Amino acid sequence: MKKKIAVLPGDGVGKEVTKGAVEVLKAVANCFEHQFEFTYGLIGGDAIDQVGNPFPDATVQICQQADAVLLGSVGGPKWDALPANIRPEKGLLAMRKTLDVYANLRPVSFYQSLIDASPLKKEYIEGVDFIIVRELLGGIYFGEPRERKVEQGEEIAIDTLVYKRTEIKRIIESAFEIASKRGKKVTSVDKANVLESSRLWREVAEEVAKQYPDVALEHMLVDAAAMHLIRNPKRFDVIVTENMFGDILSDEASMLTGSLGMLPSASLSTTGPSVYEPIHGSAPDIEGQNKANPIAAILSAAMLLRHSFELEEEAKVIEKAVGQVLNAGHRTADLSIDGKGCISTTKMVGEIIDAIVDDSAISKIMTCYT
Ligand code: NAD
Repeated sequence: MKKKIAVLPGDGVGKEVTKGAVEVLKAVANCFEHQFEFTYGLIGGDAIDQVGNPFPDATVQICQQADAVLLGSVGGPKWDALPANIRPEKGLLAMRKTLDVYANLRPVSFYQSLIDASPLKKEYIEGVDFIIVRELLGGIYFGEPRERKVEQGEEIAIDTLVYKRTEIKRIIESAFEIASKRGKKVTSVDKANVLESSRLWREVAEEVAKQYPDVALEHMLVDAAAMHLIRNPKRFDVIVTENMFGDILSDEASMLTGSLGMLPSASLSTTGPSVYEPIHGSAPDIEGQNKANPIAAILSAAMLLRHSFELEEEAKVIEKAVGQVLNAGHRTADLSIDGKGCISTTKMVGEIIDAIVDDSAISKIMTCYT
């Protein structure tokens, strides 16, 4: 298979973990005889420094000509004082809007070997397996007006939370589609006791549910959802929620698995290339130290193969390799309890590639004998 992948490493550890994910994709291409062409583009703070725009036209073109986009992370203290219209995060939001990636899938899976890395007791997290479906193009991150001004001598800041019926319908439908192939349960998270947009959200969820009689729908307020994620995470199958609630709940959920460095994501578009990125940020506190956990980025690459290229076997080989390496006891610093015996980002990538190569070599030998 011949495919084009746009690579946007971005800032901070985004660069380090994306490099690892590309190396893994190259290893997979080698083992399975695919041709992946990687084209690099600027985004975020790096793009501001080099061309004065967090999502420059050249990057837009690279993305639009690709079959899928692999992204690192953007942002960092260096750019925190910039005005809102040229901040790194502006580039991220512009990319999502331009590529129309409205459905952000964040799977949360439990690894037996990481049981001690989670701050929760083992009986709460053993067997956790759910997916957060976050609406990515609406809500308070995009609503207008957004501004700061002075009224009657007082400085005020305004953000607007707005959702259209069609925006809600398409994300709820995505959640039901996913649930119909999994545990057949959708938990729709909102704040319908307070927010008008949440009351519309709830109505639309009820309407969509009628098209999926074999999938159960429950509604949950976001504050209760935050509590249940800690108290009984096993109760969830598919959580669907709006942009900001999804952003916050998925960071909380990452701790069930032991670290932000473990959670991948896919942002799906129906009109162009989809985007794959770890859920974590640029981690300025560990930038440049070869300490970042590359697994979230590597698992995002596996999601890319599955969702954009329909290469299920190759995706599974990556996921299996990650499991094997963790089972063998390899840990980056974020997964280690006492900090002893940790391995670096590059060493973790190397271990995962070795496991992929070994696995595909064994598969080839098995194929020869069957
Ligand atoms: P963060 O996710 O960068 O870091 C939070 C904590 O998790 C830090 O202690 C960090 O060291 C740790 N961490 C994150 N990724 C890790 C990894 N792969 N391995 C090991 N540890 C890891 O969040 P933050 O510190 O709140 O934000 C830093 C910057 O990143 C900010 O500028 C923020 O705007 C940006 N950000 C970007 C994205 C994105 O690009 N999608 C997402 C979140 C935050």
